[in-house]
Amino acid sequence: MTTSEFETVSLRKEVLSRLGVFYVDMLSGSGFVDSRWMHLGFSFDDMKNNRWLDRVHPSDRDHARTALLRHLRGEAPAFKCEFRVEDGTGGYRWFISAGAVERRERNGTPLTFVGHNEDVTSLHSLREELQTAHRLAEDRATEAEALRAAGAVVVASLDAPTAVRSVIQQLELLVPLDSAMVCELESRELRFVGGASDVTEESFREFARRRLKTLLKVVKSRLPEPAEEPDQPPRHKLFVPLVARGVTVGVLALARESTAFGPEDVRVAMTMADYLSLALSNARLYSRMQQRAEIDQLSGVLTRRAFMESGEQVMDHAFHSGKPLCCLILDLDHFKSINDTYGHSVGDQVIRTLGAIMRDSLRSTDMIGRFGGEEFCALLTETDPGEGHEVTERLRLAIAATDFSGVERAVTASIGIASLTNASNDGTPAERLSIEQIIKRADVALYYAKENGRDRAVSYDTMDAADRAAGAQDPSGRTT
Ligand code: GH3
Ligand code: MG
Ligand code: MG
Repeated sequence: MTTSEFETVSLRKEVLSRLGVFYVDMLSGSGFVDSRWMHLGFSFDDMKNNRWLDRVHPSDRDHARTALLRHLRGEAPAFKCEFRVEDGTGGYRWFISAGAVERRERNGTPLTFVGHNEDVTSLHSLREELQTAHRLAEDRATEAEALRAAGAVVVASLDAPTAVRSVIQQLELLVPLDSAMVCELESRELRFVGGASDVTEESFREFARRRLKTLLKVVKSRLPEPAEEPDQPPRHKLFVPLVARGVTVGVLALARESTAFGPEDVRVAMTMADYLSLALSNARLYSRMQQRAEIDQLSGVLTRRAFMESGEQVMDHAFHSGKPLCCLILDLDHFKSINDTYGHSVGDQVIRTLGAIMRDSLRSTDMIGRFGGEEFCALLTETDPGEGHEVTERLRLAIAATDFSGVERAVTASIGIASLTNASNDGTPAERLSIEQIIKRADVALYYAKENGRDRAVSYDTMDAADRAAGAQDPSGRTT
């Protein structure tokens, strides 16, 4: 070999090494390490007798060794493997290593091996960050779904134990729990409402006796309170106050054996506590109204009588405060044929579901009443005609999209809207409509909607005089 050839070779070695290439000639015992590995402290000897494998991460070692041996034995066309290698400072770096035997003896024994190492550590940390972000997004999605489900339960159920059980089921999806219970505070007394399946009234009484001080502290402070009970399994506890509309209505008590409750657990528990508070306060309100026979048993909204009584006050208030208001009347289309086809009890179930949709779609400040059959009336306070129309359309679409159990076809509704637009800018004195008058107008619009194809919302305000007059003479005399 001439000097110039030697220089050429050594230059190539260095360049190749810098590019991550390594080379081993088993016969002559010559070759070179890739420069990156050299910086990690590898010598050529480590390459020659596979000692480099000793510095591969224990979890990756077998897999790297097998991949290499398979190729050396001629069972795989090349060697390619991803593994961690000690970086000399106690950490690891990720590499993708690939290579192949360049020359073999006749009997297959490898003579020379050429390979390439690529440092993919930053790629790995990116991948890990991505996975973490993905997991976080999944957790958030699960949480959002659980909150949505809890919200839906609270809206749909006016029975506190049912709502509590369902909300706790959702909470258990987000926070690992061994036990959960909810107690209600009424007339300065703590009463068991419900909890996870294995919690009984009895176990609650025992628990309340032991933890009365903490429970009262939480009621008073309105702040969540973690607690430890070293000799009492499950030993980690979390007490969360249930506050609705500024009033403490109860306490949520959580317990588990595994780990203490952290800030994230407290955050999720407090969000769920909002739903529980609402469920308790709604149920309380509902039972009070029911006691006064103001609620229609089937649909869960006001009876016609209660609606008309309170309706007059709502109209009065709107007139005097100058706030806009909308009145809507909703009637299902061809409901008789649902009764005829599927039976009266399926018809009843449709009315029940319709009540829930109305409560779900309108605000808690809106007033809803059942006027008989499948006809509902609602007063939307502080709602101008534009907003009223929007709400009504949303309601109509929600009904059309609902799969009413037992009914194998779409159920649609027609809706009539009338408004009290006191907030006119031109200084015109507002029209003083009685509850009967505004309902009559909404009913004229409903009649028009029925006559013009059903499954639609019609506003009295936009009807022309002739149509209003025709509607007013509607022989059905629907509502007033
Ligand atoms: P339209 O599209 O014109 O409204 O047709 P419709 O068949 O829905 O007619 P209407 O609204 O007049 O029908 C009301 C029917 O509701 C009549 C009655 O059989 C039924 N109904 C009234 N009260 C109840 C109830 O409490 N339960 C059930 N299942 N049906 C009821
Ligand atoms: Mg009808
Ligand atoms: Mg009807």
